[in-house]
Amino acid sequence: MPAIKFRGVDFIQFDALLTEEERLVRDTTRQFIEDNLIPIIEECNRAGRFPRELVKPMADLGFFGASLKGYGCAGMGNVEYGLMTQELERGDSGVRSFVSVQSGLVMFPIYAFGSEEQKQTWLPAMQKGEKLGCFGLTEPGFGSNPGGMRTRARKVGNEYVLNGEKMWITSGSIADVAVIWAKVENENDKIRGFLVEKDRKGFTSDDVHGKWSLRASVTSGLSMQDVHIPEANLLPKTDGLKSPLMCLNQARYGIAWGAIGAAMSCYDCALQYSILRKQWRDQPIASHQLVQDKLTWMISEITKAQLLVLQVGRLKDAGKVEHQHISMAKRNNVWMALECARLSRDILGANGVADDYPIMRHMMNLESVKTYEGTHDVHSLIIGQSVTGIDAF
Ligand SMILES: Cc1cc2nc3c(=O)[nH]c(=O)nc-3n(C[C@H](O)[C@H](O)[C@H](O)COP(=O)(O)OP(=O)(O)OC[C@H]3O[C@@H](n4cnc5c(N)ncnc54)[C@H](O)[C@@H]3O)c2cc1C
Repeated sequence: MPAIKFRGVDFIQFDALLTEEERLVRDTTRQFIEDNLIPIIEECNRAGRFPRELVKPMADLGFFGASLKGYGCAGMGNVEYGLMTQELERGDSGVRSFVSVQSGLVMFPIYAFGSEEQKQTWLPAMQKGEKLGCFGLTEPGFGSNPGGMRTRARKVGNEYVLNGEKMWITSGSIADVAVIWAKVENENDKIRGFLVEKDRKGFTSDDVHGKWSLRASVTSGLSMQDVHIPEANLLPKTDGLKSPLMCLNQARYGIAWGAIGAAMSCYDCALQYSILRKQWRDQPIASHQLVQDKLTWMISEITKAQLLVLQVGRLKDAGKVEHQHISMAKRNNVWMALECARLSRDILGANGVADDYPIMRHMMNLESVKTYEGTHDVHSLIIGQSVTGIDAF
């Protein structure tokens, strides 16, 4: 079977809804992924290796903190940012996760809740990829309900002392700085964010091994035992659980676009394969109605997902987006992408399980994407709460 090369997916002239700048960001990112990630991603995925060599080139293209203004950041609009994450995830969800964490979960909280000194110290260096970050919210005992966290910070003199465990932390062991969320004992257990540099005494990280998903992304556990940090490391404007949730909103928005990229990769591969692959009377499998039904489902759902997230992006640009809008986009688009991966895998038959094609890798990655940043079902509850006014958590 000849090599299958991505050709782009646009059924209803979606491109006409984009500005020239938005298309330029999309096309530049697409070309970068085609030239730099596609040739190495299957090897990275097999080896469980994060392609760290791409950090500098991605920084040079302005991918980190792309929607922030100042501090060397690109100041992209929200649709430009979304199209960038779409193309990154068309390459691999793990690489998109790295960019989302660096941007939406580390640079964003420093930007939104940090002091000017913290911003000057970290944002330009993180934009250039010279410093990497991670976001520590989840704990071994608390995932969907982060408000139950056990990690504690105690103010002692002009320092804070941190104790606790964080789990499933993207980029945990490669990060120079961790944004750690902890309950502050001296403030009635209010949740606040802290910047913890990796070389602080008592701070350790251990990678999760044996992961069958996001294998090109580092995932770690973090442990803090009497970690002393100066009070200047508190993110001063953090104020309760709503602060980390604001960060998650940023990242979830990027995921909603990213999932479309994974779906496009699977769909386009399955479409091309179905035209090339012949079974029965020397006819392509694309000539069978049942195969066409699968392709029709995929292109319809991809198209609807594009329109949904474009509207959410436009609302975000206008300052009118609500968290339940982002929940709907994340929940729908990741589910849609996972279904596309499963249908595409099916169309490739046995070839679908091999890493000569990207589909199985996308499928495995999307299982994590469905779970992190609020599980599919947690987003059902957020939307349910929004339409009924009743909290069902
Ligand atoms: C690869 C990977 C990378 C990650 N990166 C990060 C990171 O960088 N930083 C970070 O802080 N976290 C990270 N996470 C953690 C992720 O956010 C959590 O896994 C997620 O929030 C779910 O928590 P949990 O795994 O503890 O599942 P649980 O909360 O135990 O949920 C298990 C199941 O129960 C369901 N459930 C839970 N509560 C309810 C309810 N009220 N009603 C109905 N169903 C419910 C869930 O939907 C799910 O199906 C990562 C996870 C993965 C897999």
